[in-house]
Amino acid sequence: MIAIENVSKNYGTFQVLKDCTTTVRKGEVVVVCGPSGSGKSTLIKCVNGLEPFQSGRIRVDGMDVGARGTKMSALRARVGMVFQNFELFPHLTIMQNLTLSQRKVLGRRTDEAEAKGEALLARVGLATQAHKFPGQLSGGQQQRVAIARALAMDPIAILFDEPTSALDPEMINEVLDVMVELANEGMTMICVTHEMGFARKVAHRVIFMDHGSIIEDCTKTEFFETQRSERAAQFLAKIL
Ligand code: ADP
Ligand code: MG
Repeated sequence: MIAIENVSKNYGTFQVLKDCTTTVRKGEVVVVCGPSGSGKSTLIKCVNGLEPFQSGRIRVDGMDVGARGTKMSALRARVGMVFQNFELFPHLTIMQNLTLSQRKVLGRRTDEAEAKGEALLARVGLATQAHKFPGQLSGGQQQRVAIARALAMDPIAILFDEPTSALDPEMINEVLDVMVELANEGMTMICVTHEMGFARKVAHRVIFMDHGSIIEDCTKTEFFETQRSERAAQFLAKIL
C-alpha cells in the first residue's frame, strides 16, 4: 500500500531524513516512535505530499508521490492525516468540518455528505455535537472529530502525528479507543505516537527513528520482547 524507498530530505544543509526505507501493507498498523526532532513528522508528511523530498521514491497505492503527473490533490484526498493539534476549521461547525472536503473534493451532494458525517459522528460518540463549533468541544472530542473527518473521505490509509500528545491525560483513552477500533477493522495506519500501550495492543510493526534514520523496523514482538539497539532501548527506558 505504501512503499518508502531510500528517501532523503534536507532543510538547507540540515539532513532531516537519511535514506529511509520501509513498506506498509494493506491493513497494517505501524507505530513510529523516536526522540523529538528525529524526523517522524517529516517522514509521514512526505507520504501524503505535504513535504517535498530530494531523493528516493514514495508510492502510495500505485501513485508516485511528488512525481510529475501525479495528482497530489487526489493523493491527499485518499490518505487521511490526523495532527497533534486537531487542525479543525474553527469558524465552521462540526458538521461543516465533516462535509466540506466531501463536497469540494469528492463532489458529494450536501445531503449525502451530511448523512456520512452523522454516521461518523455517532461512531466516534459525538452524535449530539454536530451543530457546535470546535472551540466548544474538549480536546479529546475535537480529536475524535478530526478522525471522523479523515474517515469521511473513505481513505485508503490514515497517518496520525502524535494524536494524543496535546490532550489532558483523561482524554487520551477516548481517542486511543477510536484508533484501536479502526485498527481492528483493518484500516491501514501509520501512527507517530509514544503510547506504547497502543503499540502493544494493535501495532503489527514498530519503527524507531533517530537523527533522521530508521534505526529499527521490526514486528511488535521483536520490538518489545527481544534485544533492541542501544538507542531504542535508552529511548524506551525514558518513556515507559
Ligand atoms: P519529530 O516529528 O520526530 O519531532 P520533525 O520531523 O518535526 O521531527 O523534525 C525533524 C527535524 O527537522 C528537527 O530538527 C526540526 O527542527 C527540523 N525541521 C522541521 N521542519 C523544519 C523546517 N520547516 N525547516 C527547517 N528545519 C525543520
Ligand atoms: Mg513530530
